[in-house]
Amino acid sequence: MTTENLNKNGANEPVTCTWDTNSECDVCPIHRALDCKWERKHLIRFYLNGLPFFIPTAIGMILTIIWTGNWTGFIIYAAFWMFFFGFFEIYVLCRHCPYYSEEGRILHCLANHGLLKIWKYNPGTMNRWEKAGLLIGLILFLGIPVVTFIFGTLTLYEAETGIFFVIILSGITFLTFGGTLIFGKNLVTKICPHCVNFSCPLNRVPKEVRDAYLKRNPVMKQAWEKTGYRLG
Ligand code: SF4
Ligand code: SF4
Repeated sequence: MTTENLNKNGANEPVTCTWDTNSECDVCPIHRALDCKWERKHLIRFYLNGLPFFIPTAIGMILTIIWTGNWTGFIIYAAFWMFFFGFFEIYVLCRHCPYYSEEGRILHCLANHGLLKIWKYNPGTMNRWEKAGLLIGLILFLGIPVVTFIFGTLTLYEAETGIFFVIILSGITFLTFGGTLIFGKNLVTKICPHCVNFSCPLNRVPKEVRDAYLKRNPVMKQAWEKTGYRLG
């Protein structure tokens, strides 16, 4: 499967209307129901929604290293980030996404913007192993900081470095846990109901909207139908 089709005049055209500059979105019945065209404001919205998690995570990592001298949690998390976002998540999730169907080696999308597209675009659905892998990866992504800070707090308590440090780091632990819940809630209530990667286990787009998008995108529609999916 290439990322381009030949149209009836024999010229190349984008494989999804998300990247087709002639897609006539103004007259599309699902215009506004989906975040189906790249816009900077959607990318900014994603990261703003993640701030309640990202900020305490960054502060907690720095304080854990400075106060305990232990880099283990940070190194594990940095290695996980590189593996998960650079290699694993774009295989199980992003290569199925219409945003991934753009020509070129760099991903332009509403979240993992700027990553290198090391895998080939796959217009079909995520399989069950990919879905399970994604969910396990997301749990680790959100959970590793909290576990790191719990161990950091216990280390400070046992070392009797002073109650001040213990209170601050345990407070950061609670803030990070709360930020995880807020980020997760923001994702499933604000972003997933409009996301065009329909086979993601977190996707919340109504079937009629999803089917309308598939009908406008024959390559995707055919790949979905091969897996047994039936349009309404
Ligand atoms: S589904 Fe396609 S044609 Fe319709 S608004 Fe989105 S990008 Fe445009
Ligand atoms: S699934 Fe999300 S992060 Fe991946 S390419 Fe699509 S919009 Fe980007």
